[in-house]
Amino acid sequence: MNWQPFEDLNLRGFKPSWVFLDLDNTLWDFDGNAEEALHVLFQRHAIQEHTGATAEDFVRVYNRINHDYWARYERGEVSKEVLRSARFTDSFRELKYPESLIPDGIWKEYLDICPVLTRLMPGARDFVEAIAPHYKLAILTNGFEQTQQTKLACCGLGEYFEFMLSSEGLGHAKPSPLFFEAALSKAQTDAHDCLYVGDTFRTDVVGGVESGIRTAWYLREREVVQAEMEDSAEWKSWQPDDSSLYLGSFQHLPQLQQALLTGI
Ligand SMILES: [Mg+2]
Repeated sequence: MNWQPFEDLNLRGFKPSWVFLDLDNTLWDFDGNAEEALHVLFQRHAIQEHTGATAEDFVRVYNRINHDYWARYERGEVSKEVLRSARFTDSFRELKYPESLIPDGIWKEYLDICPVLTRLMPGARDFVEAIAPHYKLAILTNGFEQTQQTKLACCGLGEYFEFMLSSEGLGHAKPSPLFFEAALSKAQTDAHDCLYVGDTFRTDVVGGVESGIRTAWYLREREVVQAEMEDSAEWKSWQPDDSSLYLGSFQHLPQLQQALLTGI
């Protein structure tokens, strides 16, 4: 192993023209906003009254089922439509919510509530405002086009970005090099002039580095992830062709902000 996934971020003096950023759980607090939306649904549909489950039970069951459906969606086993609705109907059934009362359009209610919520990752607004005068910014996100556009517009950061590419809009998802090639083409630049930042190892770190783009890993819970990954064949078996493209990990956006603004 000649690359060190958990080493501290070091830009090594690199000053790109473009900074490409993942959206969910890198700038937009996906986990926090999703949980808030689930609490709204929990109240609205009287889940406690019908099942005895607490809001925490509902969130935990939904998160497990949602995670499983996303994995199946990414493997091409289920459609977008199935993913969107079955994660809710399966959760209601698991909690023994009365079958006849399971709301038909609950998937749509969630999609209406969640993207308009505006929690950001700690320091995200300051980070974007501080670096925007010095770098061209773009969002590269795996997700549904309209949903991601709504999130970006509602959280008030949209104006800082030259463009956003979504996996649904492109027809390719990270970590596919086709996704990153599309971003470079849209930016009319090449990989050497870009930094990519994301929070997910498989899609963001592997995807960025294998596309020839210098990549930084937003790794908030380093100890937890390190413990999980040391047992994972996935990262043990990944050997980047050019490990110098990986610039290390950081736990807080202000760290990256400082690194990008040093010497400017
Ligand atoms: Mg992410």
